[in-house]
Amino acid sequence: MAVQTVATTTDPSVDLGPAAALSCRECGHRVPLGPVFACEECFGPLEIAYDFSAYDTEELRKRIEAGPANIWRYAPLLPVPADVADKPNLNPGWTKLVKADHLAAELGVTGGLYVKDDSGNPTHSFKDRVVAQALEAARAFGFTTLSCSSTGNLAGAVGAAAARAGLRSCVFIPHDLEQGKVVMAAIYGGELVGIEGNYDDVNRFCSELIGDPAGEGWGFVNVNLRPYYAEGSKTLAYEICEQLGWRLPDQIVVPIASGSQLTKIDKGLQELIKLGLVEDRPYRIFGAQAEGCSPVSTAFKAGHDVVRPQKPNTIAKSLAIGNPADGPYVLDIARRTGGAVEDVTDEQVVDAIKLLARTEGIFAETAGGVTVGVTKKLIENGVLDPALTTVVLNTGDGLKTLDAVAGTGLTATIRPNLDSFREAGLA
Ligand SMILES: *Cc1c(COP(=O)(O)O)cnc(C)c1O
Ligand SMILES: [Zn+2]
Repeated sequence: MAVQTVATTTDPSVDLGPAAALSCRECGHRVPLGPVFACEECFGPLEIAYDFSAYDTEELRKRIEAGPANIWRYAPLLPVPADVADKPNLNPGWTKLVKADHLAAELGVTGGLYVKDDSGNPTHSFKDRVVAQALEAARAFGFTTLSCSSTGNLAGAVGAAAARAGLRSCVFIPHDLEQGKVVMAAIYGGELVGIEGNYDDVNRFCSELIGDPAGEGWGFVNVNLRPYYAEGSKTLAYEICEQLGWRLPDQIVVPIASGSQLTKIDKGLQELIKLGLVEDRPYRIFGAQAEGCSPVSTAFKAGHDVVRPQKPNTIAKSLAIGNPADGPYVLDIARRTGGAVEDVTDEQVVDAIKLLARTEGIFAETAGGVTVGVTKKLIENGVLDPALTTVVLNTGDGLKTLDAVAGTGLTATIRPNLDSFREAGLA
């Protein structure tokens, strides 16, 4: 019988900075860095393990503070080469942390309320952060086509990143997405394929393509490059803490699609504590879903450890993943940190989009309506403590989901004269 040899060290031509290996989240089995995502021992998900042992806390802090005003200021903590900022990429991140005093007054928050507004990224959603990591991995592994399965935002982020980097892109979406998201994904000139099915069908198709010769040379940012991609969400945690003056927030409300973002925000906070960049004190992480796709929230409330898949039916399409890969890890984190997972109806999502726009001048996509709506509900239910510093994530731009707020429009229509203006009661 032929003995299969397993490489024990990473190919020296693969330079992904402090990333040391891939490690299984279930059994801890380690493998060299490569375009793989599942453990060969137990099929558990792989994630990046780092070697941060050489860092001195104060030197690292200075290096970060002197870095560029984008995610690459954290390059020493990411699976990317040290010269990443010099390569053509979209340089996302370092988005605004808005002190939301009017929203706080409306919700009764006294401990300080902030909106981390990721609509300010190059393609107007948080996805630019994760795609930027996957792009570096694709370059390191010699992939020539950048691809993904997407609920919309990721398709646009991949198309744009590939265009900037000079790579081919071919991305897959459910065929019935919002028109705005289709245009945003198509405009960058890559190939955009609509699949007759929902996101979970698209995802299953992409896994098949990876195993087939037709998919050779293809880097799927959220499948075979997923361990690298996922690390991009850590930058949200880093930025929030640095923008608060190297301080942990007490509470943070995060949207859940696959759950990846939430788990990596927790990983990022843990790293900052271990590196001594923030004081080690408790924080709570809350997950937010739409009722029409709430598998994690349902499991949380029922006290279950497993997440039963659902068929999504909600206006929050960017979060509409019925079978979330990171669901069980989200449950662990919410329970370990004293947080919770909650959901809101589509009507509450729309109300929350309007509330945030009216109070803070921020127009969120439906995912932002989900987090703001869940924050409101958690305060009303006495779960989220209004006396503590709270950060709510807005992960996308309202221009992407205009349909959700259709009907918002004119206050009045008048003839172009002052009498008509006065009649309308606007004086
Ligand atoms: C993808 C996405 C998320 C989070 O997705 P996860 O799969 O949970 O990491 C949140 N908000 C928006 C707008 C997104 O597009
Ligand atoms: Zn394993």
